Amino acid sequence: MDEWKKWRPETLAVQAGYVPGNGEARVLPLYQSTTFKYNDAQSVADLFDLKTNGFFYSRLANPTVAAFEEKIAALEGGVAAVATSSGQAANAMAIMNLAQAGDHVVAASSLYGGTVSLFSNTLKKSGISFTFISPEASEAEIAAAIRPETRAIFAEVLANPALIVLDIERFAAAAHRHGLPLIVDNTFPTPVLCNPFRFGADIVTHSTTKYIDGHASSLGGIVVEKGGFDWGCGRFPGLTEPDESYHGVVYTRDFPACPYSVKLRAQLIRDFGVPQAPFNAYLSNMGCETLHLRMERHSANALALAEFLKRHPKVGWVNYPGLADSPQRDLCQKYLPKGASGVLCFGVRGGKAAGEVVMNSLRLAAIVVHVADVRTCVLHPASMTHRQLSEAEQIAAGVSPDLIRVSVGIEHIDDIVADFDQALNRVG
Ligand SMILES: *Cc1c(COP(=O)(O)O)cnc(C)c1O
Repeated sequence: MDEWKKWRPETLAVQAGYVPGNGEARVLPLYQSTTFKYNDAQSVADLFDLKTNGFFYSRLANPTVAAFEEKIAALEGGVAAVATSSGQAANAMAIMNLAQAGDHVVAASSLYGGTVSLFSNTLKKSGISFTFISPEASEAEIAAAIRPETRAIFAEVLANPALIVLDIERFAAAAHRHGLPLIVDNTFPTPVLCNPFRFGADIVTHSTTKYIDGHASSLGGIVVEKGGFDWGCGRFPGLTEPDESYHGVVYTRDFPACPYSVKLRAQLIRDFGVPQAPFNAYLSNMGCETLHLRMERHSANALALAEFLKRHPKVGWVNYPGLADSPQRDLCQKYLPKGASGVLCFGVRGGKAAGEVVMNSLRLAAIVVHVADVRTCVLHPASMTHRQLSEAEQIAAGVSPDLIRVSVGIEHIDDIVADFDQALNRVG
């Protein structure tokens, strides 16, 4: 059963998480059922008390979702994963599993717009405070933001849309020196291009809505635990002291292999009701079967389009960390050696108005509020995903008014390039 733990990512993407028995379905079945049948009451009571493992209600666990969780945990090299209804839910639960009213979190400022508003509005209103620092902060600058009540450091591995590659080792070192876990959102690289646990991250989150599903068909998120973090320093009573809502369970004592994940599922998924739907996990799992092939093509196409745009006279600037002359080249080679993923940003000469002409003239590439699926698409963050942020927050998140974000798909690169060429040539 544990043989798959030795498999390479390409094999895990296809096969991990579901091992059919004799005569069973070859493909992971969709358990489209809210509940599960038992022959005696004690079995169900034991499940409720976390004494045995099993399925009783799909808000907590479901066999299709569990197989998907096991696949992503295997791909990331973690001990456990909890799938959520969306990437937003994953990041909210990842923080709330450690921090409550009165606590504090240090976060990189270059983040997905939804994460910025989650942190600086909704979680702030519930009493968790945040200090935003540059994703390029030095270890001393990171340390300066840490307070006695800090509970975690949060950053994106490849920031959306600033495309800053995080120096994971530096952030992990600063976090660990203060007894804190580093939580990273690995949505853009995916576990195929980067395994943050290898560089010291402790918790990884994903919006599986993006490359993992890969086909823009289902929302989802996931939180993955590396395992082995020392929660016993006194800062995490929620993990080390009895949980009265579970008859005094102590997560670090009773579930030493994956206390963070058991707590997240047992308390937060239970109470907030944000599990991944079985059908979404079924689709995300199927999409994930080709993740390794798609990431190769997304990365190659994005690099080729970035190189084309750089040479185009109508283009003012291009940001793609995989470009040979990118200021992020060294970080990219260290953390993303297999490819810099499929997202690039550029600005058209003439600013926002000229950029609008280009976006409106594209035919193959569509304007959609999405990123990271097989179809090439564009988006203008300042008026779309980052619209609810103040101008200062937009700048801190790396969103200039002229920035166009391109999610490069897996179509033929010549067709993608031709589309951008004709659109750019419409700018007067
Ligand atoms: C999209 C995205 C999210 C939010 O995910 P949803 O599935 O849309 O809720 C979080 N982080 C990053 C980096 C994203 O790109």
